[in-house]
Amino acid sequence: MQIFKGKLNNLSENFKRGLSSIFSRRNIEEILEELEEFLVLSDVSIDIVEDFIKKIRKRVKKGEEAINVLREEIVETLSIDSKNWFDKDEKFIALIVGVNGGGKTTSIAKLGALLKDRGKNVIFAAADTFRAAGGIQLEQWGSKLNIPVVSGEKGADPSSVVYNALNSYRTNNYDVLLIDTAGRVHTKENLMNELKKITKVIKREFPDEPKEVLLVLDATIGQNAIVQAREFRKFSDLTGIVLTKMDGTAKGGTIISIAKEFSLPVKFICTGESVEDIQLFSPQDYAKLLFE
Ligand code: GDP
Repeated sequence: MQIFKGKLNNLSENFKRGLSSIFSRRNIEEILEELEEFLVLSDVSIDIVEDFIKKIRKRVKKGEEAINVLREEIVETLSIDSKNWFDKDEKFIALIVGVNGGGKTTSIAKLGALLKDRGKNVIFAAADTFRAAGGIQLEQWGSKLNIPVVSGEKGADPSSVVYNALNSYRTNNYDVLLIDTAGRVHTKENLMNELKKITKVIKREFPDEPKEVLLVLDATIGQNAIVQAREFRKFSDLTGIVLTKMDGTAKGGTIISIAKEFSLPVKFICTGESVEDIQLFSPQDYAKLLFE
């Protein structure tokens, strides 16, 4: 198990321990009852849990092993067909959205470092002009990673920052533009309008962009992550999730709930505060981590 080695030990050990005590029971009804409770406590949404239990019961009757059915169902739920532009060679623009504190700016730094490692010329746009600290933080990452940052004064129109960044992206022939956005303005509606306006500015200059609109979600907030995903989806077609803080108290089920409810792929998971703490997400590897 290479990919998720190390930082996810907490999550995987707890999950495995829970499953092994449940599946050591003999009576299938007892197993299902305990499994139901365990999955709900692991942050899997109740309707998904019920669906899993129903399927397990049915397939066990046909002679299959309950634990194998569960594993298959989890992998199937997480396997959402999608293109990941971060893994391709073409140029693209990505908009990164999410509420403050979720790990948005850190994730952009991580994505930038990942792309640089692959030989890409990256540029950042600090379009969170609502918080002065937002721009400063990204600029610090930029100078550490040697990635240029286009920013504006505190209170400047975020769309004008994006417009300047688009110009630089085009003129200087960068491969990837990553745009940091505000996570909170006076009202939710203002925030969503701002994101819409930014998208419009991008589309006017580059009609096929942004190729990626990633929502950054803190995995330790459980079902609240689902509420946030619902809100952000109203404003735009998200293309994927970056799930952060998987090294913390995350319980493992949040990913499953998001994938199922929104048919939205988790593209990256983050497991710490340094730029190395990001990994491409793979359903098979995740299942291995939870079951082996
Ligand atoms: P933003 O407000 O959404 O831009 O969030 P930040 O990028 O500023 O991150 C908020 C806090 O979470 C900072 O202290 C980060 O160092 C921390 N953080 C971000 N991602 C992770 C992660 O994957 N694991 C851990 N443990 N901390 C993280």
